[in-house]
Amino acid sequence: MKIVLLGAPGSGKGTQAKKLMEKYSIPEISAGEMLRKAVADGSQFGKDAKVYMEKGELVPDSIVLGMIHGRLKKEDCKKGFIITGFPRNDSQAVALDKMLSVISAPVSVAVSIDVPREELVKRMSGRRICKSCGEVFNIYSLPPKIDGICDICKGSFYQRDDDKEETILKRLTVYDAQKTSLIDYYKKKGILKSITGSVTVTAIFQKVCAAVEGK
Ligand code: AMP
Repeated sequence: MKIVLLGAPGSGKGTQAKKLMEKYSIPEISAGEMLRKAVADGSQFGKDAKVYMEKGELVPDSIVLGMIHGRLKKEDCKKGFIITGFPRNDSQAVALDKMLSVISAPVSVAVSIDVPREELVKRMSGRRICKSCGEVFNIYSLPPKIDGICDICKGSFYQRDDDKEETILKRLTVYDAQKTSLIDYYKKKGILKSITGSVTVTAIFQKVCAAVEGK
């Protein structure tokens, strides 16, 4: 199963990818998480990416393509993967197809999770992440039992730098500019499945599973 999860920032791709990873025992490849890790590691690569991420802009393909290619070549991706946050535009979609034509089989399905813009803004501005274990909460929709304290490990929270209102709006504008042609790219290939992402996590997951299983 070679799954591409499409959707705006905040649409819940990461949450669904983690559930898919558990159910189908295939790795999640998150472009955003890989980039954030590079930034946290302080590598030159991370420093270069940070400049764009802070502004809510796309990191240039010259940085992102090599990173994704390196990850896809790893042994654990041979039997499948779930990729999120990539591709983000047509040139990345073409590049992904090229990479896969050499490494393994093509993308089997592209699932687009659609969420209204106002809800995306609320979700991202409410997102809080545990500094210790990385568990993701939301002050509006998934609050911790005790305010400011992680349910799992009692750690405290941080907010992603790019989850501040101004950067959120920029990220959504960047996404909207590429959205239609990216969706069309997979529609033309006949592998696009679109689902509503403004229901519960469980209800979305049922639809995502049906989509990836071709039901
Ligand atoms: P995300 O966690 O997917 O919202 O990504 C956070 C940020 O990482 C984005 O706003 C971009 O700056 C950068 N980024 C993530 N994926 C890509 C990609 N495929 N191409 C370029 N930049 C990306």
